[in-house]
Amino acid sequence: MQDCNYQQTRLTHVGRDISVSAGFVNVPVCRGSTILADNLEQWAQRKEPDNPYASYGRFTNPTLQALTQAVAELEGGFQASLFPSGLAACTHALLGMLEVGDHLLIPDSVYGPVRAFAQQVLASRMGIQVQFYEPSLGDGMASLIRPNTKVVYVESPGSATFEIQDIPAIARCAHAVGAYVLLDNTWATPLFFQPFEHGVDVSIQAATKYLTGHSDALLGIATANERAWPLLRRAAHDFGQTAGPDDAFLALRGMRTLGVRLRQHQASALQIACFLENHPQVQRVLHPALESHPGHAIWKRDFTGSTGLFGLVLEPLNEAQLSCFFRTLRLFGIGLSWGGFESLALPMDMPKRNGKALFGGGQLLRLHVGLEEPQHLQQDLEQALDAAYALNTPRSTSGLRLVAQQA
Ligand SMILES: *Cc1c(COP(=O)(O)O)cnc(C)c1O
Repeated sequence: MQDCNYQQTRLTHVGRDISVSAGFVNVPVCRGSTILADNLEQWAQRKEPDNPYASYGRFTNPTLQALTQAVAELEGGFQASLFPSGLAACTHALLGMLEVGDHLLIPDSVYGPVRAFAQQVLASRMGIQVQFYEPSLGDGMASLIRPNTKVVYVESPGSATFEIQDIPAIARCAHAVGAYVLLDNTWATPLFFQPFEHGVDVSIQAATKYLTGHSDALLGIATANERAWPLLRRAAHDFGQTAGPDDAFLALRGMRTLGVRLRQHQASALQIACFLENHPQVQRVLHPALESHPGHAIWKRDFTGSTGLFGLVLEPLNEAQLSCFFRTLRLFGIGLSWGGFESLALPMDMPKRNGKALFGGGQLLRLHVGLEEPQHLQQDLEQALDAAYALNTPRSTSGLRLVAQQA
């Protein structure tokens, strides 16, 4: 198994080809659509399917090629395709594998927009049998597999719920009928989870998050093994998927520091998670590296680290208290996405399963622990929690608001 120290060193070297960059350390931003050939013989060569630089800018170019090569190598796969967003990588990987009448299994903890795509496009408009499954199922997946199961989708930890999946067990069940296993590996990145060593056929990165790492680009990358690559490549080409070279350059640049950034995200997030776990107003912390997490044993077996995104459930609080909490935070911003250098906090709807609130009656929050000094982040959360729970009943807050309006 490739440990993360090995990966750390690879990060410095992957995707760099000085014959392409004319000696510069970085492959430059290549902008362009048309690629000229010197003569017809060279033109014929360009159109060979395995020519990396191909015959047209949509198929790839040196900047895009540097990025796909780098990510495919880090993930441990065969080849990779680029997409203009993480979501586009997820949806096109699914479209590439599925046909009318196929059966698709998706975990109940899946990233919300992928759930919506599966329901609104795959099930409603394309005649695909979409079935959501309990993410904690491991070998038990065998009972859900049908002869026409074509894809088993996995995401570990799951969005919002942070449930860990037993990917090797799920892959064994899927492969028994020749189905493909598609993983959203955005949380762990290839540094902390090696997908192809655990039975995955296509691994997807929302490179928008940790790979780019600076909240300054949207990008998706799907890496396939040799079996899945022809289908993934076909889908990317047939749907005209590509990405801009400036964004690819930013991802390559961000990736060079992925290792050091993740070390800090990991250490800081763990420190904050431990602080929160012992806080009287926190019911539970959803972080797989904590021993209290139900998926901890599997996380420990399969992953080589944890990153900066996790959830927590606060003691019930009213609207005014929740608003006060977010208003009082100084260092955590309120916003979507994550994986940048900055800390973020977001209230989440409590997910339901079989009609029941998954984590009881508290308020679910999601935190992304950024690269600020962790002691400062902890103090920030502490003062915001103190302020929120010091507020009394909704009645007294509406009284306060009335006074404020009169003043
Ligand atoms: C953000 C995210 C995506 C989508 O990435 P975009 O670049 O925002 O489209 C996919 N999967 C997961 C787990 C994500 O967090």
